[in-house]
Amino acid sequence: MSKTDSVKLYKVRKLISELSNKEGRGTELVSLYIPPKKPIHEAIANLREEWGTAGNIKSDTTRNHVQDALTRTMQRLKLYRTAPDTGLVIFSGALPTNGPGSEVVNVYEIVPPKPVTQYLYQCDDHFHVEWLKDMLREEKVFGILSIDSSEAGLGILSGDRLEVVDIMTSGISGKTRKGGQSARRYERGREMELTYYFNRVAEHATRVFIDSNKVTGMIVGGPGPTKDEFLKGGYLHYELQKKIIAVLDLGYSGREGIRELVEKAADILKDVRLVEEKRLVQKFLFEVNKQGGLAVYGLPRVIDALQKASAETVLVSDDLDMVRIDVRCKKCGMLRTETVEASKKIQERQEMGSTPCTRCGAVDYEVAERDLVDVLEEMAFPVGSKVEVISSGTEEGSMFKSFGGVAAILRYRT
Ligand SMILES: [Zn+2]
Repeated sequence: MSKTDSVKLYKVRKLISELSNKEGRGTELVSLYIPPKKPIHEAIANLREEWGTAGNIKSDTTRNHVQDALTRTMQRLKLYRTAPDTGLVIFSGALPTNGPGSEVVNVYEIVPPKPVTQYLYQCDDHFHVEWLKDMLREEKVFGILSIDSSEAGLGILSGDRLEVVDIMTSGISGKTRKGGQSARRYERGREMELTYYFNRVAEHATRVFIDSNKVTGMIVGGPGPTKDEFLKGGYLHYELQKKIIAVLDLGYSGREGIRELVEKAADILKDVRLVEEKRLVQKFLFEVNKQGGLAVYGLPRVIDALQKASAETVLVSDDLDMVRIDVRCKKCGMLRTETVEASKKIQERQEMGSTPCTRCGAVDYEVAERDLVDVLEEMAFPVGSKVEVISSGTEEGSMFKSFGGVAAILRYRT
């Protein structure tokens, strides 16, 4: 998973949980999934048709809501010439803001983390977020390599399926040397055989793990020191070398070694993102506990570091749940900004909206509200910082939360 993806995933997850609880008054909530290759004008034509069909709906409220939702969706689509690389998902519908009769049409637009495979249009009493949920299910493919001096096994682990792709024997003769052969000559011969064998294994690995499958991680193991010699010798394609998650000692090599490796690596494989998060949190903890260390925590300090471009990585707990509210005076343009917990946002908006402008005294505002993670990412992007969302449900995550849920690892102290 690339670095910024943790923010993307966080946003999609958050939206899913928000939309899963929404219910329409009638069958009036629109879900639309557009695959990347589908021409946008075709999708619009389809919606126009649906708009016409909706004219037959008996209930005035439902009919209006459906047609409004469709109109708003078409308006959004018109902003696209072609669908993004992974397609587009739109949820649109009239949702109550304050009890029945207060419905306002909302449009939610998502560029999904994985390609939409099928065009889908649904009008229902709820949003169909389940397909989006399916897309979030991580489907990682791991390359498994077990190796010793006699044989090597190459396997692919995808989801919960393990496939043994290839077993190769080294052809290297046993450990004892023949009578009359000098020790040096024996060693040299063995080394050459080993090099030849390592090159063959590496070639197969490239074919299996790069050409035929795009592995996201590599796990290497085997009995004895052969695996280390293989890795240190730089035989493995550098792309695969970079993806090594673990190197483990095993009792077996080859086919049995592959199984043993998957078993032993179970904890690691379960959540590779967790390994990354662990590393980030530990780096933060190390820096924060050091005198003059390269870390700060708390929102004001993090924002300051972003403004000074000294933040390298911003860490945010996934349950931080804070929003930034901007109110701009419509008369004089004066801007006021507050960051509050999401649970207090309605109260805060009301208070900010009813307080007279400190510059001109007017009480007429334009109000905008954004998730704090979005705000941080907007600040981070131009200065080359990364935002990493840290899951709160892990040991590291809860340790991190004790620092207030937002922190930064710095490039340098300012
Ligand atoms: Zn004003």
